[in-house]
Amino acid sequence: MSLKDNAHVFPYCPFCRAGMGVRLEGGTERPACPECGFVQYLNPAPGAAVIIRRGKKVCLVQRKFEPKKGMWTLPTGFMEWNEDAPLAAAREALEETGLVVKITRLHSVESGLLPPDIPVLVVFFQGKETGGQMVAGDDAAAVGFFDLDDLPGPIAFASHLKTLNSLGKEIL
Ligand SMILES: [Zn+2]
Repeated sequence: MSLKDNAHVFPYCPFCRAGMGVRLEGGTERPACPECGFVQYLNPAPGAAVIIRRGKKVCLVQRKFEPKKGMWTLPTGFMEWNEDAPLAAAREALEETGLVVKITRLHSVESGLLPPDIPVLVVFFQGKETGGQMVAGDDAAAVGFFDLDDLPGPIAFASHLKTLNSLGKEIL
């Protein structure tokens, strides 16, 4: 995607309010302020997700909001500024499912796209329930444990579908 078509490029410098230009840096064109020198680095947004199992079943949440409202994902969300990935995964699990989860191991790392146009990097973990009570919260419309061959609905993101498939059963 060219900078011209990228809706995430600042039209004006957030520091000095001059109109943003373009600077060539290491062979890559980047939005840059001609007045104060601010450079806007555009990077994928990091997120974390967690695989929680009850026997062969896996915990999925239904999205309450767009994008992909009504579709299903593993508990997931963006990392906050001061979090590492396991902390973000456990926090999102608690917020969306009501379950207290201990992150046990790294499962996989996938690139993806949050519609319409945000590239993301999602760190998938495995986790174990240690407490809490299952209730759909935050941006989840519903939560439950489901067999991999009897999912409640379509999976919202390709990275999540790939991860579910990696659990041993091909879906879709
Ligand atoms: Zn500036």
